[in-house]
Amino acid sequence: MLNDVLVFTDLDGTLLDHHTYSFAPALPMLHKLNSINIPVIPNTSKTFAELIELRQQIGIEGPFIVENGAAIYIPILYFKTQPKDTTSRNGYWVKEFTKPREHWLSLIDELKGLYSGEFKHFSNMSNTEIMTATGLSAKQARLAATREYGEPILWLGSASIKNKFVQTIIDLGVTPLQGGRFLHLSGECDKGKALIWLTKQFKKERDVKQCTSIALGDGQNDVAMLEAADIAVRILSPTNAPPILTRQTGVFTSQAYGPSGWTECLEKIIFSHQQFN
Ligand SMILES: [Mg+2]
Repeated sequence: MLNDVLVFTDLDGTLLDHHTYSFAPALPMLHKLNSINIPVIPNTSKTFAELIELRQQIGIEGPFIVENGAAIYIPILYFKTQPKDTTSRNGYWVKEFTKPREHWLSLIDELKGLYSGEFKHFSNMSNTEIMTATGLSAKQARLAATREYGEPILWLGSASIKNKFVQTIIDLGVTPLQGGRFLHLSGECDKGKALIWLTKQFKKERDVKQCTSIALGDGQNDVAMLEAADIAVRILSPTNAPPILTRQTGVFTSQAYGPSGWTECLEKIIFSHQQFN
């Protein structure tokens, strides 16, 4: 039996098609969930600036989690009372899990001498360089570069020096996260911790003992949220194997890619009450 369902979803490769970024195959399901008041909560490596645009295009209005669990944005008055440990900014209550970007940038600056020419990072790359590295349009690249909490590094040198670099930054208190193309430098935050915190706020708000969290993701950076949720959905990717999970129960794996797989699994779990193992 599912109570007070919350849907936490990765974007790239999950709700958005890996190649085209289209969410069209998920639209009927998004409408269906909206009609029965099940919130769809983006939980993504993308930035606040990117999410403001995307949420409008997708047509979702509630809370969202940015930069791999670095912060949660909750529209002011979405809940009856402001959750503890949040600040108010630009119309949102903001819960932060890590230090601001400037902290990570100053650490990078200190290491530049030691690793001269070995890497580039977002704040010293031109928009054209970011476009080339990501495949984003000029506007999308600008929004992606408007980061608040972490810094993506593009490694240019050898793998062995990169390993040394990774060890150095871990010693400095950085939690590195390897994405498809970039090494993300940030604090000890992840999509799972953010999911747990926000689920708690929903339970308080609704005065219920249990909310059923469903998490959907296609990549390695989704593992923490897939492990933390009541039900984990691994969305099949055309480019990488499904993320490897420790948990053995409550796991679905889609048959279709991206937004089609997203719809397929939520239909089964929420509307057909299909058993899972
Ligand atoms: Mg993804």
